[in-house]
Amino acid sequence: MRSKPHRKLLFIALDGFRLDVFKDMLEEGLLPNIEGLVNSGAFLELLPTYPAITPASWTSMITGSWPGTHGLICFQLHFTGERLDVLHNAFQPEYVNAETLWECAERAGRRVVLVHFPGTRGARKLAVEKGIIIGGRVMGHYTVGEFGTFELAPTRIFTTREVGADKRIMQIPTPSPSEDGMLKTRITFEVQGHTINYDVLIVPDDSGRYREARIIDADGRCLARLRLNEWSDPISVKAGDRIGIFRLKLMELSEDGSRLTIIQTHVSPADGYTIPADLSAEITSKIGAFPERVELPLTPFREENERLIPSLGRTYIELGWQQADWLARTSSYIAKKYGFDLLFTEWHEIDHTNHYVGGYIPIMDPSYKHLNRKNPYLDEERAERALKITREICRIGDSFVGEMLKLADEDTIVVVASDHGIVPAHTQINVNRALMEAGLLAVEEDGSSLRIDWSRTIAYHWERNFISINLKGREPTGIVDPEDYWDVREEVISALNRLEDPKTGEKNIFMLFRREECQPLGLYGERIGDIFLLLKSGYTTWPRLTPKPEEKVFQKAIGGAHTFFHPTILENKGIFVISGPGIAEKGETKETIRAVDVASTLAHLLNIPTPSKNQGSVYWNIIKE
Ligand SMILES: [Zn+2]
Ligand SMILES: [Zn+2]
Repeated sequence: MRSKPHRKLLFIALDGFRLDVFKDMLEEGLLPNIEGLVNSGAFLELLPTYPAITPASWTSMITGSWPGTHGLICFQLHFTGERLDVLHNAFQPEYVNAETLWECAERAGRRVVLVHFPGTRGARKLAVEKGIIIGGRVMGHYTVGEFGTFELAPTRIFTTREVGADKRIMQIPTPSPSEDGMLKTRITFEVQGHTINYDVLIVPDDSGRYREARIIDADGRCLARLRLNEWSDPISVKAGDRIGIFRLKLMELSEDGSRLTIIQTHVSPADGYTIPADLSAEITSKIGAFPERVELPLTPFREENERLIPSLGRTYIELGWQQADWLARTSSYIAKKYGFDLLFTEWHEIDHTNHYVGGYIPIMDPSYKHLNRKNPYLDEERAERALKITREICRIGDSFVGEMLKLADEDTIVVVASDHGIVPAHTQINVNRALMEAGLLAVEEDGSSLRIDWSRTIAYHWERNFISINLKGREPTGIVDPEDYWDVREEVISALNRLEDPKTGEKNIFMLFRREECQPLGLYGERIGDIFLLLKSGYTTWPRLTPKPEEKVFQKAIGGAHTFFHPTILENKGIFVISGPGIAEKGETKETIRAVDVASTLAHLLNIPTPSKNQGSVYWNIIKE
């Protein structure tokens, strides 16, 4: 038998690229780079895990095991022995209970390079010991206002407009007359406890109209001269022993100089974001500051926000471009200088955008389309605009793939994949509020808010898809006798099944699975709750630690979501495109690869060991050998 050639892998993750949008764009020729891969290889539907959520789905692809085995069963984890509202961000390697493809590759002596791939950086254990890790998302950063893993200060907007919605949107004084006909105001922000003050001089042109803002530091140096919609070059600040780097953009300047809005990107560290550690400074100087996350203090593409801060959506898209560009240039730099056998990278902005605008796009799956008629907020014009934005961001994804493809040679297998899609939602259900109204959860007053009274609480919704019984002997606050467990759980299920949306009259909104019924869904083990919940398209839940007194069970919340819905729904499926040596030229197929099949298929093609807890199968249909 002929020995297998030494193949390389380029794995490009486009988080949240939904199957239906992908197919349409492919047909219309809007994804030329990925289309090339489809034509020379194969395109399959990617069936996400239960739940269809980032940590669960990517980790199943990387380990070949079901969420019940690898352990990342949702976005947040609850560990037995801790109180039910003590949660841990799932996306950290130390919580993964299964071997990864990366570890297998290293065992086989291959060089692994991870460029800002989800879940590669944790506090204690590293997923890769000998290779290179750049960044590495820990997925806690979606909560607005929370810090990224590495950044020294979050993104801020400075504006003369009355906003005050977020502590990262800072109202600044209206510019007042200064010397030589200029106007002057000031921006102030903190980086790691150090206060940074810049004067902003608004300069008139010959016609007396104010068209330029100059940023002046405390020593009187001009750091940037910005015209409308222009970005500054990178600006460095010293914060103790750390050097931070950020950029500014002039988002708004009225001609009379009275109205001004400036955005400051998050402050990136000049070093400390790579393994090995000394690589950070090299990348910062050769490629630029690490754009860890694209996240604004205000949700872009929302009409009221864009009225408040013009060019919010534009700025978000520009930041997305800049990040994709940095990821591609960094990958290229590492590949050329240090080489790679397996290189994984991920660009997250398709998913991010889906959450912003996906709620406006009607349901596409024929089985659930009838629910569009019951959506009280459906608006054709907004739907069209949302789809346009989605496609625009997906095209950036395709350009990113185009840049990354420059690293592939004839020995390289290229994969472009997504982990789930997006399903529109219009109404959010506060499950804990519902449990409270059913007498299954008790609260006590705590100043202006409410606190869970564990001594009278029977069940608690602790994470998007999971509810647990406050069971004696298992939970530290447990009050339910083990012999009553079964009856109590049925009571919870009945209470939720009785719920009816007061606005639409919709019933049977929940699909509730008892924990033992989740086994065939790939969910089992200590980390899952006593009840696993899915919802009808259009609905979401949010686990609130404490139900606020004024909150209702059903609330309007238009947005896209994926974790609450069957991964089999058309718009919730992902994509899997593979091309290169050993891959059959099948083009677009009607076939489906499950997330758990990815690892063993790639291990086979690369001739490396299969991850030890693999539960998937090699997908032979796409292999020609
Ligand atoms: Zn995702
Ligand atoms: Zn998402």
